[in-house]
Amino acid sequence: SETIIRVQNLKKYFPIMKGFLVKKRVGDVKAVDDVSFDVKRKETFALVGESGCGKTTTARTMLKLIEPTEGKVEILGEDISQLTRKEMLPFRRKMQIVFQNPIGSLNPRMTIGQILTEPLLFHNIVKTNKEAYERAVELLRMVGLKPYHMDRYPHQFSGGQKQRIAIARALSVGPEIIFLDEPTSALDVSVQAQIVNLFQRFQEELNLTYIFISHDLSLARFISNRVAVMYLGRIVEMGDVNEVFDHPVHPYTKALLSASPVPDPKVEKQRKRIILTGSVPSPIARPSGCFFHPRCPYKMNICDKEYPKMSNVSENHQVACYLVEKEGV
Ligand code: SF4
Repeated sequence: SETIIRVQNLKKYFPIMKGFLVKKRVGDVKAVDDVSFDVKRKETFALVGESGCGKTTTARTMLKLIEPTEGKVEILGEDISQLTRKEMLPFRRKMQIVFQNPIGSLNPRMTIGQILTEPLLFHNIVKTNKEAYERAVELLRMVGLKPYHMDRYPHQFSGGQKQRIAIARALSVGPEIIFLDEPTSALDVSVQAQIVNLFQRFQEELNLTYIFISHDLSLARFISNRVAVMYLGRIVEMGDVNEVFDHPVHPYTKALLSASPVPDPKVEKQRKRIILTGSVPSPIARPSGCFFHPRCPYKMNICDKEYPKMSNVSENHQVACYLVEKEGV
């Protein structure tokens, strides 16, 4: 199917300023550093990694909530990194976001009815208030809420219900791509499953493409088709989710998988555990060569000298690690 997102050499650097009276730029935090990937329609593409790896900044830069330092983001064939605010409007509709914390994303002073009708009227999706109201009721039904909820305020709902409202609002404008930024991590496990089911149902019914941002590898595996593992601003391993998680090559991916629980104890036994030692190095002073070398149990001579290129493990699996040569591929 068609490629609807193409991210090419995306960079987002934040300057580090020092000095009191005269500020001087002393360096950059390279939050996103040369990230490239494609996403096809109706795919769920997961960006995973520890906090600070750059996954959220990648998503925000793609949405143009923050301006990229360099690189291209093509959405439905158009490079949106060059667009003005006004030119971005139609893309704002096409790309929605559901955050981890629905409390922060729903205005507490607005009723659910106002929250849902506002974007419909703003984007001229409906013409009259009556139409907006009817459409909003329909959206509430879609996410499993009732028409009488229209007059209530966000604080009158549970966490799961608030997330349903956030989903209804995201769907209201007819998006093609939805960014899911840790959308279930603030919820109880039982509620998590219901929300994940909703995502899957809407993907099927509305042909949605998802960018799923998470540190939860089991969930990423469950809901996505492809995955990119990020470390200190770069993608270190990427590909078909089953290939990457069943046959990880990068020691960092292996370590993340060791840390995430597996439901099947047989798999657990076969899996060689790599325990991460040391903390994530500062993104301000990243290690030389492969950024992972200070924590890597497989470090070789070359590893601290030059950053490894992204190379193919197979057609659907890429990795940036010198071990790929040793694997005989
Ligand atoms: Fe470890 Fe070297 Fe691979 Fe980096 S390139 S992950 S240091 S083996």
